[in-house]
Amino acid sequence: MFSESLKSEIPSICSFFEAALLRNKLFHSYLFCGSAEEIKDTFAKELIQLLNCTNRANAEPACGHCNNCSWIQENTHPEVPIIIEPDLEKSKKGVILVGQVQKLLSKLQYKTQFHRVIIIKTAEMEFLPSESANSLLKTIEEPSPNTLFLMYARDKEMVMPTIYSRSQPISFPGKIITKEINSVVAGIADSLFYNNSPINFFEAGKLASELSAEIAANKDLNSTETLSGALDDLAQICLNTIQSKNSSIDQSEKLWLKRIELIGKAQSKLRSFCSAQPVLENLFSDLAHATN
Ligand SMILES: [Zn+2]
Repeated sequence: MFSESLKSEIPSICSFFEAALLRNKLFHSYLFCGSAEEIKDTFAKELIQLLNCTNRANAEPACGHCNNCSWIQENTHPEVPIIIEPDLEKSKKGVILVGQVQKLLSKLQYKTQFHRVIIIKTAEMEFLPSESANSLLKTIEEPSPNTLFLMYARDKEMVMPTIYSRSQPISFPGKIITKEINSVVAGIADSLFYNNSPINFFEAGKLASELSAEIAANKDLNSTETLSGALDDLAQICLNTIQSKNSSIDQSEKLWLKRIELIGKAQSKLRSFCSAQPVLENLFSDLAHATN
């Protein structure tokens, strides 16, 4: 059913969904965990095609040339997928607003001939605040027929328990970060977190360029994904610091959590195709100047 390339990359996820499709036993909401966004999108697109192809039977792959297949491939299908992500114009905090959810729910009341797939691109609590999440709960639990929710989150721990408990988690493999990128990130963490005087904006820009250059040097890596992975790494450094409870560092847990939050917001901007350099400059400057 799924393409050979996808099957070689994420074999267990493909076979899991193929079995579910064959038995016609798809769950109504899946939580796509992991920080590799691109593979989630690729997988979602193939799944949506399989669900909507009009020339497909049983274990066959999608035909690739019926109207639905063509539209989905070209991202021009009028109804699927429905993508929900933070409206960065209306929502200054970069979160999914209740209004967006309500608009979605009223759309779902209308019948359609298509297999609807709703992709919530940022299902983490910080991007899907409780009032927005709460208005989704009933629909996720009992969606109308032929409706499927795909929720994306970096980590299931970051998702509201009520959303999590109503969804089936699927773990996507993480991204490849080279040793070199790893050591650049460690150097950046040193400059940002352990400098006696916080770096200025110019220095933040230099660190951003350094990271981008190291990522660009690896031509076989996808740069957006790798950058997001590098930021995961930076967040992990913050998390490790909290866990190690290093008493010689006079910085509170709250400050580290705030930094992790800042990193998550920057990743969300990168996912919305904001250009990397200014996002990184602002992030590094904010990280260095964050206070309790
Ligand atoms: Zn087709």
